[in-house]
Amino acid sequence: MPELRQNFFTKEWVIIATERAKRPKDLARQQPLKAAAPFVATCPFCPGNEDKTPPEVLRVPATGSDPWQVRVVPNKFAALARDSQPIRTIHRSRRSIGGFGVHDVIIETPDHSHVTALMPDAHVANVLRAYKSRYDELSHDPRIAHITIFKNHGLDAGTSLEHPHSQLIATPVISSQVRGRFQVALQHYDEYGECMFCQMIEEEIKEEDRIVIETERFVVLEPFASPTPFCTYIFPRRHMASFGDINPAEVTDLAHTLKKALGKLYHGLGNPDFNYTLRSAPAEVQGAKYFHWYVSIIPRLTRVAGFELGSGMFINTVPPESAADFLRNVKTEVAAGVGGAGN
Ligand SMILES: [Zn+2]
Ligand SMILES: [Zn+2]
Repeated sequence: MPELRQNFFTKEWVIIATERAKRPKDLARQQPLKAAAPFVATCPFCPGNEDKTPPEVLRVPATGSDPWQVRVVPNKFAALARDSQPIRTIHRSRRSIGGFGVHDVIIETPDHSHVTALMPDAHVANVLRAYKSRYDELSHDPRIAHITIFKNHGLDAGTSLEHPHSQLIATPVISSQVRGRFQVALQHYDEYGECMFCQMIEEEIKEEDRIVIETERFVVLEPFASPTPFCTYIFPRRHMASFGDINPAEVTDLAHTLKKALGKLYHGLGNPDFNYTLRSAPAEVQGAKYFHWYVSIIPRLTRVAGFELGSGMFINTVPPESAADFLRNVKTEVAAGVGGAGN
């Protein structure tokens, strides 16, 4: 039987359409996995082309033979301008703000062919440290209300640039979607005296059905009212409203956990296009007891159609319990150690 399920955090409804259920392998990319070239002369993010990007705002320096490990640069085609001011204009029904904001690109590695799922854990940790460094710095800017860190992987996820990169956009306002989530979380805290995310994590760990990975400091799960196939969340076990509160041991664990979660999607579904987003508290509510930051990974396996646009309600053809069961069984350590290494 199909089932309507309500998203605990947004109160939105989702149709889990078991009658139209798709097997995971029907959603997997059918072409064989092929690696890109490690260096592309025309790529603005490849080493040697550093002058093709605006000047760096951050660099994780080299170790060994690489020219550098991670670079953060302003987006050359930025959605917002960092040198303007967020001045509001309200004229009857029309309101606007000068296009102030910060739009960074995090170039994750000098190697054009790398994907997060196959990077060493230590390198993923460098990328996360670059996120945190920029997040911390921008959180202190009084003009900035909210920071979104995200990655688009593949054409269907909105990027045509193959070189591994993620982005950060800091805005002078908080969107109504983000504001709505905070209001639900605050109301829950007022009514029950606890963080709704901490409550849900505890319940999911007990129930086990939707858990994909558990580590000492993080839990990876498929949400009960998953809007799209293989929508995957990574929650820190420790209550923290803001990504900026992550400690060094948690960065190390998150690097391993994120890579493993992406590795399961990569190996299980044939390197699907995906977006991931860090959902963190706005600067004004850092330290809040009612919100809990997390990473949301959305593989782009299906397309949003008329019903979703018209109703705001998603139809998901892969129940999250089936997705979790499938992902738990995907091996991510391919052939490593075979042949005696590690004995
Ligand atoms: Zn490149
Ligand atoms: Zn919490």
